[in-house]
Amino acid sequence: MLSTALQSLVDRCLDALLPPACVFCQGPARQRGAACDACARRIRVWPRKSCARCGEPLPAELAPGPCGACLRKPPPFSRMESLYVYDGPVREAILNWKLAGKDAGVNWLMDAAAARLGELFAPGDVLLPVPMPLSRMRRTGLHHAANLCRAIARRTGARMESGWLRRAGDAGRQSARGRSERWRHARRAFRLADTTHRLDEGSRLWVVDDIRTTGATLHWACRTLARSAALNGAGIRAFSLARTPAGA
Ligand SMILES: [Zn+2]
Ligand SMILES: [Zn+2]
Repeated sequence: MLSTALQSLVDRCLDALLPPACVFCQGPARQRGAACDACARRIRVWPRKSCARCGEPLPAELAPGPCGACLRKPPPFSRMESLYVYDGPVREAILNWKLAGKDAGVNWLMDAAAARLGELFAPGDVLLPVPMPLSRMRRTGLHHAANLCRAIARRTGARMESGWLRRAGDAGRQSARGRSERWRHARRAFRLADTTHRLDEGSRLWVVDDIRTTGATLHWACRTLARSAALNGAGIRAFSLARTPAGA
């Protein structure tokens, strides 16, 4: 074990050789694992003044809704929660994580949201990662929604069940399609695995994805669960780390 004085000397030498870099832009930062001021200012949390059902931002006087769309056609989930707006450093951090396997930015975003995660999730809640198309799983060997579930479970005591929600077929890459085509393709993309689904009294089911863009994936995944008698009317909720702003 290094003495305190020696440790601080080592730290100072390390900082001189490798100055602390921002986890988002790699520019200078005050300490290791931190965000620089410019990046921290550009990170937007998802607005809390929003429809309590679908998460769509609402004017303060109309929050928490429900919004007109939810009144006309209630979605298959009771809540849709997102932590951040998919934009700026958040978008770069998620792309770095998904395409280059660099998770420093996403870890920072999860740590920064620790209090919010604690409000949303309770021990006993079950986290279901949105399953990826098999072809993509085979190609990359990575499952970002499952990694996100593990990160939430570690921080909140909720548990992940990665085998419940399955792909019904290989619907291909969502990001390659337009909005209406995504809705059509996602419609039959999921099924509930034929296993025993152990749920404690009062615990909620969360379908978890990294980015919510059109909402098609979370909508149809939740509807698959909502239609299943096996789940016995459990509260179904949807969660994403980030969400594209309306109209984007
Ligand atoms: Zn930065
Ligand atoms: Zn709504």
